[in-house]
Amino acid sequence: MTASPSDAFVFFGATGDLAYKQIFPALQAMIKHGHLDLPIIGVARSDWKVDQLRDRARDSLEKHGGLDADAFEKLAARLQYISGDYQDDATYEQLRRAMGDAVRPLHYLAIPPSMFEPVTQGLAKSGCARDARVIVEKPFGRNLASAQSLNRTLHQSFAEDAIFRIDHYLGKESVENLLYFRFANTFLEPVWHRDYIASVQITMAEQFGVQGRGAFYEEVGAIRDVVQNHMLQVMALLTMEIPMDGGPDAGSDAIRDEKLRVLSAMRPLVPAEVVRGQFHGYRDEAGVPPDSQVETFAALRLHIDNARWTGVPFYIRAGKQLPVTCTEVMIELKPPTHAVFDADDRGQSNYFRFRLSPDVLITVGARTKVPGESMVGTATELIAHHHPGDEMTPYERLLGDALHGDAALFTRGDTVEAAWRVVDPILGNAVPVAGYEPDTWGPPAARQIMAGDDQWHN
Ligand code: NDP
Repeated sequence: MTASPSDAFVFFGATGDLAYKQIFPALQAMIKHGHLDLPIIGVARSDWKVDQLRDRARDSLEKHGGLDADAFEKLAARLQYISGDYQDDATYEQLRRAMGDAVRPLHYLAIPPSMFEPVTQGLAKSGCARDARVIVEKPFGRNLASAQSLNRTLHQSFAEDAIFRIDHYLGKESVENLLYFRFANTFLEPVWHRDYIASVQITMAEQFGVQGRGAFYEEVGAIRDVVQNHMLQVMALLTMEIPMDGGPDAGSDAIRDEKLRVLSAMRPLVPAEVVRGQFHGYRDEAGVPPDSQVETFAALRLHIDNARWTGVPFYIRAGKQLPVTCTEVMIELKPPTHAVFDADDRGQSNYFRFRLSPDVLITVGARTKVPGESMVGTATELIAHHHPGDEMTPYERLLGDALHGDAALFTRGDTVEAAWRVVDPILGNAVPVAGYEPDTWGPPAARQIMAGDDQWHN
């Protein structure tokens, strides 16, 4: 496998929802920025002609980000469509012909997970997998055993360095910013340690519910949907050791090696440190059974057993129908060891706050003196705003990276298994689900998993 760019982009699931919402906008943006000049081949079951796929692309762009006439014209000209069943060998023979002279295609599996196996096998059998790369959508398995099984299936047809497992969170500007901030600033490393950090909280709050996707949500729940992947990936980026770049080809693996080490040092969760919640009204959603035990909220306490983090509690909280829509990381420092002034007030320690969405923000919580005679302080925040520029969407960034063989922002097979190992013991009904009122921060028990008298930062 070389790092040469791919020379054809094949996307399975061309008529599907993800293609509509994310793939067409990303393809148009890449063309607009001059990053995509190759055949683009959509494959799906619908008995369409290519014009119907072009119409669908046009419609998608009008609804998601806007149509750019020049870029769309180029996209439409490069687009081909193959109609066929993924279980049918003839589909891959058609694909082989449509690929023409391409020798290093990138195949994107934007399809239901049950189709991953037939498609990778069809690609291998037809020769379309030779020297190819493959992007695999989430979810990557339902638990540790199914993730291991999926890895085995993929490895039958593709080498690990040709497999790009998407976690779109890793393509977000705010997550890149977190990684950059952590390793580009001298003042952070000395305090990024159990001696100075009291606790870490990561919250992914959504004010909305399941938005009509009850049947889909029944298959996942909050832990599978966002904790095992997005939130543990963010936690790994925050806590990993400094990546050591071992040469020009080691770029993708330097960060992934460190993420694997820290994920492997995370203690598998136990029921006593997990709260699962379900908002009142969830069971009335279409596609949700009246006795559903699926969680729409989870709060977890995690531990990392290594020299840097032993003894520091990590709190993760994710849920729907919460009071706000916001994803934030809060790193609370210990109070000064010797309180000269008033700085040992509980809850008034220094902190770092990373807002990952909806806006991008990094703040440092500090204390300054209130003007006047006495040495009394007040909490203040030093704020680094992020000024939006010509940002890439996560899908544009990730598809571009995959076309160039850069896997740094994709999860490696061993890393995804390490993350499943952390949540595996508490999947299913190992922890009973408790109801909560919409517009609250989950069931009352969520507050009790905080050690001592710490508080969630709302
Ligand atoms: P959809 O159900 O909307 O689309 C599925 C696609 O696969 C359609 O193009 C369908 O073709 C095609 N397909 C399914 N079975 C066959 C078959 N036997 N032969 C040929 N084509 C077939 O799914 P989504 O787009 O929503 O999701 C795709 C993947 O992306 C999933 O893994 C999902 O988890 C993931 N994902 C989706 C997100 C989203 O927002 N939708 C977000 C994050 C991840 P046709 O319609 O022509 O039958």
